[in-house]
Amino acid sequence: MPELPEVETVVRGLRPRLVGQRIRRLRVAEPRVIRGSLRRFRRLLAGARILRLSRRGKYILLELRPAAERSGRYSWIVHLGMTGQFYACAPTTPLLKHTHLVAWLSSGAQLRFRDPRRFGKMLVLREADLEDYFAALGPDPLRISFPGFCRLFVGRRAPVKSLLLNQNRLRGLGNIYSSEALFLSGIHPARPAGTLDRAELQQLYGSLRWVLREAIAGMGTTVSDYRTGDGRPGDYQNYLRVYDREGEPCPRCGALIARLLLAGRSAHFCPECQPRQRRGQPAGDSG
Ligand SMILES: [Zn+2]
Repeated sequence: MPELPEVETVVRGLRPRLVGQRIRRLRVAEPRVIRGSLRRFRRLLAGARILRLSRRGKYILLELRPAAERSGRYSWIVHLGMTGQFYACAPTTPLLKHTHLVAWLSSGAQLRFRDPRRFGKMLVLREADLEDYFAALGPDPLRISFPGFCRLFVGRRAPVKSLLLNQNRLRGLGNIYSSEALFLSGIHPARPAGTLDRAELQQLYGSLRWVLREAIAGMGTTVSDYRTGDGRPGDYQNYLRVYDREGEPCPRCGALIARLLLAGRSAHFCPECQPRQRRGQPAGDSG
């Protein structure tokens, strides 16, 4: 599933191909990926100029100046869901099954949205409505300060892994990078978030930002369907340390990577490098 680095990679790849382009024509093959009125969506997109691309958490935002509207700006918002692909290509590139939307750009290229499992979605919002739409999302882990990061954990009894996955606390993280950051920090995924001390929080804050930046540099992780903005797989799957590596040796100590279920999500970790109890602490009730 695309997380912050994958979405950031898509945005960076698409930006030079889309900014300044006009959407000459639009074909929506699967209206169910559009939230809200399809007519309004088409009316605002067809003929619009793309002014800017950005990312909020796992959302891609394309700022538009619609042809039809005299006033105001709009944003075309795209969420890739689990298997969404949003990429630009030559019009001669074979059209793959599950391509739900094609936009013809003034450059002659095509922008395509493909999503086999159809958990992705898109919609158009007025600029004035953006803040409301994203109000529930927590801060971006690459932009939050360390004191702000620490405040998220105070008094929280939820497992640290669940807190990292909660988009209302911190936006953009999923299973891959939360697992990798906890491993790099030596923190067990089931530790109650509020029990992390300052040194551990410092470690986690640093690891999280480091692994996200490293994954962006590696063009993201392709486990199954994720593709970059020009349709290629990412590269970071070759560098993952624990995610999806149950039963394989830990790259640090050689112990076998374990998996546990937390609130229905799997958490991969090394039982040696990420002990349930902090080192130097007597074993407690949960062992
Ligand atoms: Zn280990």
